[in-house]
Amino acid sequence: MVDNSSNALAELRAKRFGSGDSFDYVVVGAGTAGCVLTHRLSAAGHSVCLLEAGPTDWNPLIHLPAGYIKNLYSKTLTWNFKSEPGAGVNGRSFSLPQGRVLGGSSSINGLNYVRGQALDYDSWAQAGNPGWSYDDVLPYFKRSERKEGEADPKYRGTDGELTITDLDWHHPVSDALVEAAVSLGLPRNRDHNAGDQEGAGYFQRTMKNGLRVSAAKAFLSKARKRPNVSIRTHSHTSKILFDGQRAIGVEYFSGGRQGELFKVGAKREVIIAAGALNTPKLLQLSGIGPNEVLARCGINVFHELGGVGNNLRDHYAVRMVSRVAGVKTINELVQGPALLVQFAKWMVRLPSPLAISPSVVHIFCRSDPALDRPDLEFACAPASFREGVVGLLDKQPGLTLGVWQERPESVGFAHIKSADPFEAPRIQPNYLTSEIDQRALLGGMRIARRLFRSAPLQKYVVAETSPTPDIESDEALLAFARQKGTTVYHMTGTARMGPATRKDSVVDHQLRVHGLEGLRVADASIMPSMPSANTNATTLMIAEKAADMILGRTVN
Ligand SMILES: Cc1cc2nc3c(=O)[nH]c(=O)nc-3n(C[C@H](O)[C@H](O)[C@H](O)COP(=O)(O)OP(=O)(O)OC[C@H]3O[C@@H](n4cnc5c(N)ncnc54)[C@H](O)[C@@H]3O)c2cc1C
Repeated sequence: MVDNSSNALAELRAKRFGSGDSFDYVVVGAGTAGCVLTHRLSAAGHSVCLLEAGPTDWNPLIHLPAGYIKNLYSKTLTWNFKSEPGAGVNGRSFSLPQGRVLGGSSSINGLNYVRGQALDYDSWAQAGNPGWSYDDVLPYFKRSERKEGEADPKYRGTDGELTITDLDWHHPVSDALVEAAVSLGLPRNRDHNAGDQEGAGYFQRTMKNGLRVSAAKAFLSKARKRPNVSIRTHSHTSKILFDGQRAIGVEYFSGGRQGELFKVGAKREVIIAAGALNTPKLLQLSGIGPNEVLARCGINVFHELGGVGNNLRDHYAVRMVSRVAGVKTINELVQGPALLVQFAKWMVRLPSPLAISPSVVHIFCRSDPALDRPDLEFACAPASFREGVVGLLDKQPGLTLGVWQERPESVGFAHIKSADPFEAPRIQPNYLTSEIDQRALLGGMRIARRLFRSAPLQKYVVAETSPTPDIESDEALLAFARQKGTTVYHMTGTARMGPATRKDSVVDHQLRVHGLEGLRVADASIMPSMPSANTNATTLMIAEKAADMILGRTVN
């Protein structure tokens, strides 16, 4: 694909698109949401300019699912953000990579496809967002989906752009883990994205023929063939431009900090889809945000909106690890000469651990039987990592059960530190500061212990290595969670959807920025609360619904 960043090309573009460099829609961010929006709006005949700060997605490690572990820390493919030290996590700070490439975070994510629970969306509607109940959003989930294999048509789409597949690589320890969950009284769940989420089974993945299906692959590959679409990589948007209260375009640096500044016009709307950390940053840089944040950075307040950058939520996971015996786990299967065997299998499209998501088994359950629905997600794999060494597998066989509270109450913020568009924002997720989250996580850790000690897993588990069995009291387990837990990279909520009567709302139920015209936000930022899910599927749904709202269409 053309990486059109030079001046000459900008002039050519201006000629090609007629009245100056201006389009019906300017979309900022070619991530999960931006790719869907560009595809749907251009398919409806509108001209679209898509601005992406990162490069194209040529890197083969993006497309090989196991490349995830490498790309997480790539300097060219991610925003290498870092969180502020957190009071709930012993003052630790975390690396918070977000995708910075065509496809955005969907090009570097863990590939699990999880939609959440009906009540998640009903609660959005109940909070003053008409049109966002589960019944309302279900058709938008289905629209994107091309679910292969079993698919109940009531819940699942089978002719959309995004291929979703069931796991094809089975492992005795994974199977034993599902049995272990069943032995604790949980149902076996063959489709965690249809009907009831509760139970245990295998994650569905955004993957086809052993290759990642990013939003760029699924949606942009179609849009980029249209003459009414201009995709501009290495184009870092620095400001939204206004005429009165109406957004009329954006300014962007082509080629990074040392690059040239361009303007591009939007005849109809500017749509911000830069992700939950960069979207509030761009709004704040444009003078839209909390007074005190803008004042501190010397930015004139164009439109005060106190909620911009607040309500940041993320999943905080604890990983419980056991050593297993009598079987080879991923640890041994992808190291040394065995890796070549797996590579050969992957090349001929045979099931291989190189073509799985990092977590293969899910368990959705309640931390307390008194709850009316699951509040915990387990993401598990027959693998383990060396203590303190990021991305390096153990030498002995291992099993890891990651667990997090699905709908965290710990709330943080992402605020700019200066008026410099290239400076990273100050990010404080406030992990594990809510007592509800602490209690839920403790419940999850105790369930993990019961799983390790259940009959089906006792065949394999030889030692609980992290935490060790002597870490047993609530205090000790919580201390372990604070010291060893980590992010699952599900940033949401920083441009919260809600009615104008709520002081912290940033966009209305049509995703229009309150008090302004011609400006919408459509990405993970708008989630008022977290869905009981990894957040890619929900972001796709948000973008699908946004496209219909922009086009004035209703679902049929
Ligand atoms: C490491 C990781 C693992 C994850 N694993 C999973 C998983 O297994 N399953 C799941 O469901 N979810 C997962 N997620 C979360 C999921 O991928 C995200 O919630 C989703 O991709 C968010 O989509 P988005 O459109 O809001 O933002 P993004 O997809 O992040 O897209 C934002 C885009 O905007 C661009 N951008 C930002 N600022 C600017 C600017 N100023 N100018 C121009 N462009 C800009 C970015 O470079 C990026 O391409 C994971 C996320 C990460 C980071």
